[in-house]
Amino acid sequence: MRLARFLLLACVVAVLPLAWSAAQTAATPSAAPQPDQGQQAQQSSSDQAYHLPPDKLAKARTLDRIRITLGITGALWGLVVLWLLLRTQSAAAMELWTQRCTRRRWIQGLLFFATFFVITTLAALPLDLAGHIASLHFGISVQSWAGWFGDQGKGLGLEVVLGSLVLLLFNWIVKVSPRRFWLWCWVIAVPLMLAGTFSSPVFERIFDKFEPLSEHHAALVADLEKVVARTGTHIPPDRMYLMFAARKTNGLNAYVSGLGATKHIVVWDTTAGRIPDDQIIFIFGHETGHYVLNHIVKGLVLSAIALFFVFFICARFAAWLVRRNGVQWAVPDQPGIPPLATRTGFVAILFALSIAGFVAAPASNSVSRYFEHQADIYGQEAIHGLVPDPQRTAVAAFNSLGEAYLEDPNPNPFIEFWLYDHPSTKNRANFAAHYDPWAKGGHGEFFNK
Ligand SMILES: [Zn+2]
Repeated sequence: MRLARFLLLACVVAVLPLAWSAAQTAATPSAAPQPDQGQQAQQSSSDQAYHLPPDKLAKARTLDRIRITLGITGALWGLVVLWLLLRTQSAAAMELWTQRCTRRRWIQGLLFFATFFVITTLAALPLDLAGHIASLHFGISVQSWAGWFGDQGKGLGLEVVLGSLVLLLFNWIVKVSPRRFWLWCWVIAVPLMLAGTFSSPVFERIFDKFEPLSEHHAALVADLEKVVARTGTHIPPDRMYLMFAARKTNGLNAYVSGLGATKHIVVWDTTAGRIPDDQIIFIFGHETGHYVLNHIVKGLVLSAIALFFVFFICARFAAWLVRRNGVQWAVPDQPGIPPLATRTGFVAILFALSIAGFVAAPASNSVSRYFEHQADIYGQEAIHGLVPDPQRTAVAAFNSLGEAYLEDPNPNPFIEFWLYDHPSTKNRANFAAHYDPWAKGGHGEFFNK
């Protein structure tokens, strides 16, 4: 689970993050697991538990620099694009154009926001292309360009359809409650986030193919059921799926998705059968930890608390921006419609929220890293008694994951603090190597034995 999904701006277009993350998953880099992965971790020395062979180390360092550059540039570029839409009066021109197309205000809104998503997607395309080229170059992605563009198109289609509806709703709230709109937007943002999490399995199926895991890996299902029994979760085998990821990526993944009735387990076909089942059940134990420890609910509650203040501040900030720059941005003066509720004014609100999202990234990433660390502990404890040596299994799994994605074994600590929503593979593997609460007859944090 990536709590960064709960990034502040994402909350505004609450249904989108899932579509977006599904698109990301589809396009996300991953790397070829090598046959020696398991053994490599087992040879690890005590000072550093995550290692890469020299040739991969050089690649990982280069790729790390590329990822950081693209990540920071992408975030800043997103802000610049919104500012340019306002500063060049493009947003105002779009608004005028929609008014010429139809007299119905809600259709104008849908047209405006659909165009908005197309423009912002096209603006981000060069950086996305660079990311995919790098991923292909380093052997992580194996997805054809046709498939990659297809996924981008599906992602954009979801944004245009669902995102436009959500933004239209928020825009309408600004119109009917110009003074308290931030509060009403906040009130409906939380159930929208919940609905998005609940329906995430539907979005996943738009991008990838799934089949029952038992049809392909019966032994693994039996192992996963042991974890399910030990953790007291209620996930029957018919809720365990194999995702066909190999035509897109060499990356590894196993996760739990959905909420309540839609909760299910997914293991990628790049993972099942390619790394030892012991490591897969550890990764699965980690994911189960997110559910058992209520990280989704806690994340939603924390997001809701943060959003209350963020919406309030951004509403004030956007109003100030429009007062100060309204003429320059050609924010229309429409009778009966407050300036912030015009489409152009609404882009100013999105701009303010994007700045908040950028500034708040370290805080939200710190919370996410804390949850991930808890899940790591839980995962290691969950497989105690099911594998001969949980420490060794966890370290081996982190080495498999790190090698598959060419994670830098020595990332910059400041970059980790600012950008990483998971602790670095180095820190995770080092912790796992030394975590042994059973050593002197004790027990773990989450299990009695
Ligand atoms: Zn996790």
